[in-house]
Amino acid sequence: MALIVQKYGGTSVGDVERIKNVASRIRATRDEGHQVVVVVSARAGVTNELIARAKAVHPRPDSRELDMLLAVGEQETIALTAMALHAIDVPAVSYTGPQAGIITDQVHTKAKIRNIVPTALRADLDAGKVIIVAGFQGLNDDGQITTLGRGGSDLTAIALAAALHADKCEIYTDVDGVYTADPRHVKDARKLDEISYDEMLELASQGSKVMQSRSVEFAKQYGVVFEVRSSFNHNPGTIVKEEVAYMEKVVVRGVAVDRDQAKVVVSNLPDKPGTAAAVLGALGDAAINVDMIVQNVGHGGVAEITFTVPKDDAHAAVKALPPVFARAGGGEVVAYDNIAKVSVVGVGMRSHAGVAATLFRALAEADVNIELISTSEIKVTVAVDRAKADVAQRAVHAAFGLGSA
Ligand code: ADP
Ligand code: ASP
Ligand code: MG
Repeated sequence: MALIVQKYGGTSVGDVERIKNVASRIRATRDEGHQVVVVVSARAGVTNELIARAKAVHPRPDSRELDMLLAVGEQETIALTAMALHAIDVPAVSYTGPQAGIITDQVHTKAKIRNIVPTALRADLDAGKVIIVAGFQGLNDDGQITTLGRGGSDLTAIALAAALHADKCEIYTDVDGVYTADPRHVKDARKLDEISYDEMLELASQGSKVMQSRSVEFAKQYGVVFEVRSSFNHNPGTIVKEEVAYMEKVVVRGVAVDRDQAKVVVSNLPDKPGTAAAVLGALGDAAINVDMIVQNVGHGGVAEITFTVPKDDAHAAVKALPPVFARAGGGEVVAYDNIAKVSVVGVGMRSHAGVAATLFRALAEADVNIELISTSEIKVTVAVDRAKADVAQRAVHAAFGLGSA
């Protein structure tokens, strides 16, 4: 008998028929003699709908109240999934995140899991019940409901698998696994049999929404091997695990695109020590996540700093800087919110040269202008005009021979 954690995402529980399908898959696993802990998301679209409603009553909703509201989405699906199991004679009991003992830090809307105390859940599991846990939510030390950031049900599943020492963790979604690129945008994208934590983490943090990036970080930290697979068929999925030597043979594992970026250009800054620190410090204080930073020193003692930020933060970035300019004795800022980032990722880059050159050539041939470039050990990212994101992604995918054809 194994203990298996299964997570079903929003599309997989999107309506009553799909919830029944999930229930019968859970029963099949249990019939094989396993203990099953299930994590479910809100029905597809529900979290977005709730956020839209919150914004309709207040432009910047209070984050405690937002968490109170967002937790509703998952609470609906846990109860419906438990009832669907009862209907096919499977004993099952639903748990909210707080009831499951998921303790988080204080940060509403993007809380981190601090620890899990699964005592109650264990007792029901040992009594032979299937446990259905609401993804994406927890409880902070003050007894307040928190949520774990968008896509956070992935994190609930991985963290429960770690806390319960599960034998298996399966992330069921609406595609067959992790592909070389988003299969909805690149038709000949190929499903990967396996991928390392580091590659999955880079893809996730650069825009592949198939896994929440913090959940992958957590899995790496606690050594949780997991499989991403489809809830609509029985095809084997993609195993995500620690890197092994042969993985370096592949130079580029996959391509990710983040379409929701902006470019911020700060110009006419006095070129003296401390200016970049002041600019980036002000952005840090405003909790703005800055990426792809480039500084140029122009003529006449002025410097220019260009960087990318998530599109939703562009306005805040522009507002945060004038006090810095006043202190530094100069500076101007302009934001362009039409940016996409295209990244290629692979652990093989460590031992193979020429990745950037191939990438730049592919983009040149596809007539895509590169606005910014950044590299890390296992990733090259370029910022391009959002209108060119798809063309760029397909060109790069083909240039590295990633397609199935
Ligand atoms: P769930 O609701 O199950 O959590 P998500 O919508 O969060 O599912 O993630 C699945 C989606 O991720 C897929 O439908 C696919 O469009 C997208 N995706 C982006 N990049 C990739 C990739 N490299 N491989 C697979 N899916 C990807
Ligand atoms: N329902 C949440 C969201 O849409 C969490 C999740 O689906 O993983 O972000
Ligand atoms: Mg998801």
